[in-house]
Amino acid sequence: MNYRRVLVFGAHPDDEIAMAGAIAKFAMRKVNVTIVTFTDGCEGYPKPEMKDTIVAVRRKESSASDRVLGVSSHVHLEIPDMALINNKENVLRCVHAIRKVRPDAIFTHGPDERHRDHIAAHAISVEASWQAGEPVAAELGAPWRTPHLYFYGAVEGDKPHVCFDVSETEHKRLLAMAKHVSQHFLWGRSKENFEEEAKWIKRSKGKFIEHFYLSDGFCLNDFPPR
Ligand SMILES: [Zn+2]
Repeated sequence: MNYRRVLVFGAHPDDEIAMAGAIAKFAMRKVNVTIVTFTDGCEGYPKPEMKDTIVAVRRKESSASDRVLGVSSHVHLEIPDMALINNKENVLRCVHAIRKVRPDAIFTHGPDERHRDHIAAHAISVEASWQAGEPVAAELGAPWRTPHLYFYGAVEGDKPHVCFDVSETEHKRLLAMAKHVSQHFLWGRSKENFEEEAKWIKRSKGKFIEHFYLSDGFCLNDFPPR
């Protein structure tokens, strides 16, 4: 995990929380972290009266969460929630993002997802990781082959390839979750619950690990020498 630049794909405005400890640890080590969020999260409202404001609310919550984790930049593709499809336009938007960031590693959803947007985000980002390195669509930037492609979850029946110690930043995952107030009904906890737990984790000095799976065809030996 000795990277300079990483790119994280997520279907919805809070999906990167799955690897929030790693993101915060990268930021602490001055690694440039870019997040690409496909959808606007417009269906993530618990009460009908929130329908008209939920997109703006989630954008604000996402920015607050980014500040907690130390995210360098965040691209919102603003595709409507539950309407993400694997088409040419979306693959090319990701190719453009990859060639612009030129990451050492890409992190995305795994192959065994259930949500339609997660399934599409997995397929689009995996294909774009490959297409970005090919001599195609030249107006989107110079080809860039990303050495490592990881899944941050949803890989059934496989052991993780990397167990990343996030003990020093686990509390930041809780503090980032505290910022996604509109999603607290889903998680069954309040802002105060998250903040309390963050304090407790920081005091406890416990060990926390995040698991990552290398995509087929990628190998840790692929990392180029600096
Ligand atoms: Zn999601």
